[in-house]
Amino acid sequence: MPASIDELAPPGALAKYEPVIGLEVHVQLATATKIFCSCPTSFGAAPNSNVCPVCLGLPGALPVLSREAVELAVRAALALHCEVRPQSRFARKNYFYPDLPKGYQISQYDEPVAEHGWVEIQVNGESKRIGITRVHMEDDAGKSVHDGFRDSSRYSYVDLNRCGTPLIEIVSEPDMRSADEAYSYLTELKQVLQFVEVSTCDMEKGHLRCDANVSVRLKGAGEFGTKTEVKNVNSFRFVRLAIDHEISRQVAILESGGTIHQETRLYNVATGETVGMRSKEHAHDYRYFPEPDLVPLRISDAWMNRIRDSMAELPAEKRARFIADYGLREYDAQVLTQSRAAADFFETVARAAGDPRAAANWVIGDLSGLLNAEGKSIEESPVTAERLGELVRLIAKGELSNKLAKEVFAKMFSTGEAAAVIIEREGLKQISDTGALEAIIEQVLAANGKQVEQYRSGKTTVLGFLVGQVMKASRGQANPGAVNELLKAKLT
Ligand code: ADP
Ligand code: MG
Ligand code: ZN
Repeated sequence: MPASIDELAPPGALAKYEPVIGLEVHVQLATATKIFCSCPTSFGAAPNSNVCPVCLGLPGALPVLSREAVELAVRAALALHCEVRPQSRFARKNYFYPDLPKGYQISQYDEPVAEHGWVEIQVNGESKRIGITRVHMEDDAGKSVHDGFRDSSRYSYVDLNRCGTPLIEIVSEPDMRSADEAYSYLTELKQVLQFVEVSTCDMEKGHLRCDANVSVRLKGAGEFGTKTEVKNVNSFRFVRLAIDHEISRQVAILESGGTIHQETRLYNVATGETVGMRSKEHAHDYRYFPEPDLVPLRISDAWMNRIRDSMAELPAEKRARFIADYGLREYDAQVLTQSRAAADFFETVARAAGDPRAAANWVIGDLSGLLNAEGKSIEESPVTAERLGELVRLIAKGELSNKLAKEVFAKMFSTGEAAAVIIEREGLKQISDTGALEAIIEQVLAANGKQVEQYRSGKTTVLGFLVGQVMKASRGQANPGAVNELLKAKLT
């Protein structure tokens, strides 16, 4: 997707500047009902069916704040290390838009629910904290659909189902210095919010939306440059591309003696460019004022503590616990805490297996390999965590060699059957029984007289060859440890 290259700065010019980035992220709270009425928030319902006088903004209708929405907002705030304000206030943000029948959004302004938090990201192997300025609650607007044609004229449609869906807006400090840092911040933010079940963060359904504020300044300059805001980019990958494009565009303008105008821009996925949408000179004056139909929101310490106590572990806490309690390597702990689902799966395997490190190897190695090959998520694994755990336990107990276990696992994956069923049917049980092993060993020794001679005259390295022969004769089922012991005893 090459942007018009002449518009972009050459690498030499880019190196003179430092980008400054702050993100505004809207997240849909995972409540069953809307923020100020009891309409469902379900996705995909028939247009304009999940509506009532409150979310339609009909005259005289009164909002009632959802306790669940507040609790999820507080949970998000705590997970982002914010201070929750004992009192916050809703405010009307007035503007006209066809999908906003009230003529205003109910948001929060100078008294947001929480402020002063942070998210930790990794930059070149070091941790960096990105400040969170504020978290505030608001209701969502409806949706305009601009793709209708009838009688050769264009039609737009309005679907108000989304009106009144609870959102939080998470505003970051201008602490990021590259598109990669913005990408890491979004990834970390999403992971945290998913872990504490504040939101699904499903971007395809619009449950997480990001506006990127970008400016550049000469390296070493004290003041920030003028920023532009790139609106509503719908994937993390595009946010990164949009920021990089915007940095380059701004540097090119400054290098040719121009100035940056504060404006809102849109990212065009097809061209890879950002395009001006409206300048800040025509910026909205939202005429915020306190929402007269709602009392201030008071959150007592007792309530906040109850919410804190009900919260699931954060990804960073889980990583630390996996390392401390299970003896996992940093990297494995990192991989296994990418999602709640992966972490829960691993813990179930570890419990059933009684060997956490082996459990981690199987989940990260064999299981992930087959899942990736079939494009399946861990939730869709044909092998349940309990069954994988049983398999790993059989290896630990010496009933199955690692090699056979891999074979059994592949069959479990394709049939969904338990390990024991497959082992029984295919006669794959490991042979540890001394009598049975001795019989095989006798045959092998008889057939390999030369190697037996060599061993007895001091060339003990042929033991490996003989073990291999026994394994082969047993079709991989002999217990290698036992074979080793028995062979040595027989040869001396
Ligand atoms: P506005 O009033 O234009 O919405 P805010 O001060 O509320 O601006 O900031 C909105 C977002 O822009 C925040 O995430 C903030 O970190 C970021 N931001 C502010 N100034 C800059 C800047 N000079 N460059 C990049 N981002 C900035
Ligand atoms: Mg703003
Ligand atoms: Zn409603």
